[in-house]
This record gives sequence, C-alpha cells and structure tokens, in this order.
Amino acid sequence: MIVVLLGPPGAGKGTQGERIAASLGVPKIATGDVLRAAVKAGTPLGLEAKGFMDRGDLVPDAVILGMMKEALKAPEQAKGVVLDGVVRTVPQAEGLAAVLSELGRPLGAVMLFEIADDLLVSRLSGRTVCDCCQTPFTGRSPGDLHAECAKDPKGTLVRRKDDEPDAIRNRLHVYQRQTAPVVAWYRDHQANVVAIDAVGSLADVQARALGALGRS
Ligand code: AMP
Repeated sequence: MIVVLLGPPGAGKGTQGERIAASLGVPKIATGDVLRAAVKAGTPLGLEAKGFMDRGDLVPDAVILGMMKEALKAPEQAKGVVLDGVVRTVPQAEGLAAVLSELGRPLGAVMLFEIADDLLVSRLSGRTVCDCCQTPFTGRSPGDLHAECAKDPKGTLVRRKDDEPDAIRNRLHVYQRQTAPVVAWYRDHQANVVAIDAVGSLADVQARALGALGRS
C-alpha cells in the first residue's frame, strides 16, 4: 500500500510514519531526512537544498520530483511505502500521480494529521533530533549523546536550524500557502483522504492512524 502523509511541520508525521510503515511492513521515505543527510554529507543535492531548508522554505519541485521517481522505482518499495513530507505542493502531487500511473500502482491513502498552530510552535521549539538517525525528542537538550542511537558511532542531539522561531513561523506560513492546497487537490481527485486528530499521546494517535487504515 502506498500512503502519503500530509500535515504541518511538528504534527508528528515522522514518528507516526515509522509506526504506520512498521505495521504495514513497508519502508518509510521522508524527503526531509534524505535532504538533511545530503546536507551533512555536503553532496551537490545537499548544497542546493541547504539555504531553502535553513530558512524553512521548500526545496524546488524539480529536485523533489527527481528524488520521488528514483525512490518509487526502487525494488524495496515493491510492497508499498509510506511517504512522509514527500508531497508538499500541487505540482508534486501531480508528479507523484504521474509516476504512480506510469508504474501502474494505486495510491492507497492520504493521511492528514490535524493540529492547532500554537501546539506546533511549542512542540517544534522544544524539539531536538539525533544528528545521526534523525529521531526527534522533546525535553532533551542539544549536545546530549543519543545513547539509544542504533548507528555506530552514536549521534548527538541537535536543534534543527529550521526549528528556530523565525524559521518555524516561515514553515507554518509555507504550509498554509503551498501544502494546504494539496489536501483540496487530493479531495478533488477522489483520493482516499483520511483526517487524523494528531493531538494526544503517541499511542492514541497511532491507534487512530492505524484504525483509519483498517489496522490495529
Ligand atoms: P521535514 O523534515 O519534513 O520538516 O523537512 C525539512 C525541510 O526539507 C523542509 O522545510 C523543506 O525545506 C525540505 N523538504 C522536505 N520535503 C520537501 C518537499 N516534498 N518539497 C520541498 N521541500 C521539502
């Protein structure tokens, strides 16, 4: 099953996406994670993306569409995939639809994580992430070792540049302007759009998300 996760930054798409992917037995692709790894490695993709990401702006559609095509054609995605933050503009939704139609694969569901803006700001401004495996945390400080990191050497917790107040404000604005119209686009194109209340404990939100997909 191919599942697209939509929702503002900080709504919990990454964390819930991992759980949904595990339940479906498919991988998860997060363009944000791929881009951050490219920035860290200093590749041409990373050098192109860095400025956009630091400001909280979107990376150009052409870059994302190339990544999307490559990822969906990979054999690991044959059973399905959870796409986290991969579709953020109407041209990206159109591009994904074209790739899926070329591959003869249906889009199973579009999950929309819904949450109020004031909660997002407090979640994002208190967040640290592992600079190695990208696991997010609240209540842990930048500079701490990520002792549970599965990678070797283990990562350190950092504050993402785009979790600074100005960038957060810009990301929420960018979401309203460029990504919110994607929800209407999917509804207009008869996609299976399911709205999930993203407020609550991880376990509660997970139960709602899996329930919406007919899983428990
Ligand atoms: P995320 O980790 O999903 O919050 O993404 C971090 C940043 O990566 C975003 O603020 C964008 O700059 C960039 N990014 C990730 N996915 C996309 C996408 N589908 N389209 C454009 N930019 C993206």
